[in-house]
Amino acid sequence: MAPDLRVDDAAAPRLDIGTGYLAAPHTGRFFGSTFVTTYELRRGLTARDEEYLRQAIDESRKCVPSATSYRVGAVVVTRSGACFAGHTHETSPTHHAEQEAVKKALAAGAELRGAAMYSSMEPCSQRSSEPESCSAMMLRLGFARAVFAAYEPDCFVQCRGALDLRLGGVEVRAVPAMAGEVLRINSHLRGE
Ligand SMILES: [Zn+2]
Repeated sequence: MAPDLRVDDAAAPRLDIGTGYLAAPHTGRFFGSTFVTTYELRRGLTARDEEYLRQAIDESRKCVPSATSYRVGAVVVTRSGACFAGHTHETSPTHHAEQEAVKKALAAGAELRGAAMYSSMEPCSQRSSEPESCSAMMLRLGFARAVFAAYEPDCFVQCRGALDLRLGGVEVRAVPAMAGEVLRINSHLRGE
């Protein structure tokens, strides 16, 4: 009988994930009884990626701490290089950072097909206050890339935004080296 192996065991059969990814799993989490492993892109972040992600994190500091929401910042960068920043609840008590940035881009007539979204935290996959999640919105508008610092903690719902975006064909890049700062900005939700 075959040994009982978890997907993230080094000895387990490898999925065919293409050559663009590191062979070793980047993170793994349980979604109910399913264990999901994510893989990191082999290619490094560009200096420009870091700069936009830094801008998104700085944007998140503008959010007023609230017991019912994360403090998140987002920057949309179009293929032509136009930038639009937003933060949680900037213009509406139900808007997320990604929505705020997209709203500004659409108001300016920007083309969002092929654009990149830089978020301080993983774009959401499920929400109670509005019908469309940020990851669903990004898929609908044709975003090509998503770069974020911290995976969403399980304070409110179990987020599968990064997974949904990947499954939808978006290139997703998490930057764990910048996650600690984002979690500190959100320490109001962890009883600290
Ligand atoms: Zn969201």
